Amino acid sequence: MHTAEEYSRIISLHFSPDVVRKPMMYNLAKKFDLTFNILKARISPREEGHMILELSGSNAAFKKGISYLQKHGISIQDVAQSITRNESACTHCGLCTALCFNRALHLDLKSRKVVFNDAKCTACSNCARICPVGAMHVEANEEF
Ligand code: SF4
Ligand code: SF4
Repeated sequence: MHTAEEYSRIISLHFSPDVVRKPMMYNLAKKFDLTFNILKARISPREEGHMILELSGSNAAFKKGISYLQKHGISIQDVAQSITRNESACTHCGLCTALCFNRALHLDLKSRKVVFNDAKCTACSNCARICPVGAMHVEANEEF
């Protein structure tokens, strides 16, 4: 059972073929009381795995879980760090908000500005595809 200190992050995992066959996600939930929501998953022809998932739990459990994954040779990247918005290019037209299903981009009614909350971003790249001025740069997109 998670507490009020619940912490949630969207992370990108890369792992080798031998890890693909191990029940890492199951262990993560069982050993550390973390919950996960797989947002994207792909196994390459060489059987290397890439997954984007939302991981939630207490802050302490989260740290232990990340360290567990790293000990098993899984490379972890914070998805939010690979998404950027060019603030000077964005015209706050609001087009991207209609396609951002995680509400990482939303229109603030008071300021009439489009706010970008990178902690909610799953790197789906919808915004980058639709933005007329190319203000959204999604690095994770290159790997799918
Ligand atoms: S579509 Fe582009 S320019 Fe329009 S609000 Fe979104 S990021 Fe800004
Ligand atoms: S990539 Fe863009 S559309 Fe997709 S979740 Fe992130 S901000 Fe929203």
